[in-house]
Amino acid sequence: MVKELELKLLPAEAADESIVEQRAIQKSRLKAQDVQSVRVVRRSVDARGARPVIRLKVEVYAGEAYQPEPAILKGFQPVDGAPKVVIVGAGPAGYFAALELIGLGLRPALFDRGKDVQARRRDLRAIQQFGEVNPHSNYCFGEGGAGTYSDGKLYTRSHKRGDIEKAMRLLVEHGANPDILVDAHPHIGSNKLPKIVANIRETILHYGGEIHFDSQVTDFLIEDGRMRGVVVNGQEEHRGEAVILATGHSARDIYYLLHRRGIRMEPKPFALGVRIEHPQLLIDRIQYNQSPREEHLPASSYRLACQVDGRGVFSFCMCPGGLVVPAATAPGEIVVNGMSMSRRDSAYANSGTVVAIELEDLAPFQQHGVFAALEFQRSVEQRLFAAGDGSQ
Ligand SMILES: Cc1cc2nc3c(=O)[nH]c(=O)nc-3n(C[C@H](O)[C@H](O)[C@H](O)COP(=O)(O)OP(=O)(O)OC[C@H]3O[C@@H](n4cnc5c(N)ncnc54)[C@H](O)[C@@H]3O)c2cc1C
Repeated sequence: MVKELELKLLPAEAADESIVEQRAIQKSRLKAQDVQSVRVVRRSVDARGARPVIRLKVEVYAGEAYQPEPAILKGFQPVDGAPKVVIVGAGPAGYFAALELIGLGLRPALFDRGKDVQARRRDLRAIQQFGEVNPHSNYCFGEGGAGTYSDGKLYTRSHKRGDIEKAMRLLVEHGANPDILVDAHPHIGSNKLPKIVANIRETILHYGGEIHFDSQVTDFLIEDGRMRGVVVNGQEEHRGEAVILATGHSARDIYYLLHRRGIRMEPKPFALGVRIEHPQLLIDRIQYNQSPREEHLPASSYRLACQVDGRGVFSFCMCPGGLVVPAATAPGEIVVNGMSMSRRDSAYANSGTVVAIELEDLAPFQQHGVFAALEFQRSVEQRLFAAGDGSQ
């Protein structure tokens, strides 16, 4: 028998497995000797009252044991010699597409313009120390894409969700903390992601996939109206049964290439804004009524949304206990983003605060046609750089 129930505990109680077990058995009204195990399946912070509490959903197993799902990787078979699929970009989309292809018995061949995670670190240091941005290796380009040094918040407001649980389990099978499977707001942390990304690379190579770094896709092989493959670094041709484009948001050049090759493009509205940094103590005081917050409570976060002159303004990608990082992909431009370590222990919180940009705002950029929004974005980034002191 499995009994599902909810517990409301103080943070220190929720962090103590023996207390969780004891309270769960008490609430289940089962005899302790009949209980085989207690499993937490969901954990969230509830800060609505005077003192924050942790809400846990637990399963109490009596007379039967919990049967964990078999590992997804156990179902993988070598794909050497299987039909090849070309993937452009080794970011989260590219790497997860490669895992999916291997699961389907197909052979992924990935091409990324950047370097592997280890080599990429040197280029990030050059951005931080000297303000030098390598357009092929930076916070957005290179193995793991923007995901490698991202904050690693694994939740979204989007309702267009695929199989989230499978993605989470794959992350755990590659080294992520299993807490992400139960936390209401799962978070990995920028310090943990590079190793997880390197582990995913090892899986892809182990089952027979190919990964090529320093390999920028510069053209497509389009024959009889079908995409047959790609041209890498202006010279090598690579063909496959299909091509998956996983170049993310930052690679503007790929959009221009698609347009040149006659692929229909449409502009779409987007959001643009600034990143605001504040002391974490302030956010904890507002959200938890505590400053400093008690042990076992995570750094607090917030979400804000309002209308200004009929237009949506909202917070985005809030990073409790985090850092603001320079995420430009070209010299002479400024873009920032936010990250945090797994412990979220920096003294500052930061958050993007953005406003929706509508296509009618782009009238001064109309000469760029379908690329009006991209050119507007580029001009804002360049003007910010020009207004600064030359650093990133
Ligand atoms: C600092 C930071 C923090 C973030 N925090 C979060 C977060 O907490 N949660 C969240 O959900 N999102 C976060 N994001 C956003 C998230 O990282 C991106 O949405 C995600 O990485 C997109 O994945 P992707 O695979 O589609 O593209 P990308 O990660 O952009 O990867 C694209 C890859 O394609 C490669 N590429 C581009 N052009 C070419 C070409 N012509 N040829 C070959 N390769 C090419 C690039 O080198 C790159 O590796 C953050 C981003 C940053 C920068």
